[in-house]
Amino acid sequence: MKIGLRGGHSPNCKGAMGIIDEQAEVRKIYNEMVPMLQAAGHTVIDCNSNANSVVGELNDGTNKANANNCEMFVSIHMNAAGSPDANGSEVFLYNNGNAVMNQRATSICDKFAQKGFPNRGVKFNTAYHDLNASSMPAMIVETLFCTGIADVDRYRALGPKGIATLIVEGITGKVVSSAPVQLQQTPDSKKGSTATMVCFYRVTDLDKDKVYYFDGFTAHPLNHPDEKKVLNDIYKANNGKDMPEFLWTSKAPWFTRLQNAVERKPQFVIKK
Ligand SMILES: [Zn+2]
Repeated sequence: MKIGLRGGHSPNCKGAMGIIDEQAEVRKIYNEMVPMLQAAGHTVIDCNSNANSVVGELNDGTNKANANNCEMFVSIHMNAAGSPDANGSEVFLYNNGNAVMNQRATSICDKFAQKGFPNRGVKFNTAYHDLNASSMPAMIVETLFCTGIADVDRYRALGPKGIATLIVEGITGKVVSSAPVQLQQTPDSKKGSTATMVCFYRVTDLDKDKVYYFDGFTAHPLNHPDEKKVLNDIYKANNGKDMPEFLWTSKAPWFTRLQNAVERKPQFVIKK
């Protein structure tokens, strides 16, 4: 699925300022969500904005989602209230007409509740820009209250990654693995389906835009975005989803581990 993802607000047009800064913290959650969604086989379209007005950042988000024909738009926020005792999570949808979105939203609320956040439930609102200006099913995830003492305590305990995990698991219906490398298997619909060990990866601290294609044996640097597109198109035609893409850093050189593992000679040969 192609997901338009927006970490609410812009560094130049902040959201709520509570005990913590909504915009800065939500951007951390966004950054954790992207590789989790990609590892689950989804494509993430960055719908963030650096605009310096509310209208500008709202339009940037939905325009990017619409222009990229995203299949779902997800806008991440933190709530705010005058009282430090207001706490909890809620998810807004445009209306209750989409059973799949209802289920995802309910699941997100349930997952937050399991971590102690009061469940404020799924709500419907046709007035919110993110919900009415997006041309695909959309949700606004109000993760927690940045003004709430108990919520912020829970946030600090879980960290942005913990919050990202709850949202991603709610959206995908799958458990997010904590393993750093998540290579995927083709849908197990028929007996004898084989594991596909191919992926894209980037080494973000060396060159965040340089994409490598790992064909199961060797990594190939790509020189043009269309090269990635054609490889992904073929993969998608065969597998029904995008090729997984991993973001690694040279400090934890998983690409080296991967290459070493596939190049090592087999040690045991099983004879029949
Ligand atoms: Zn907000």
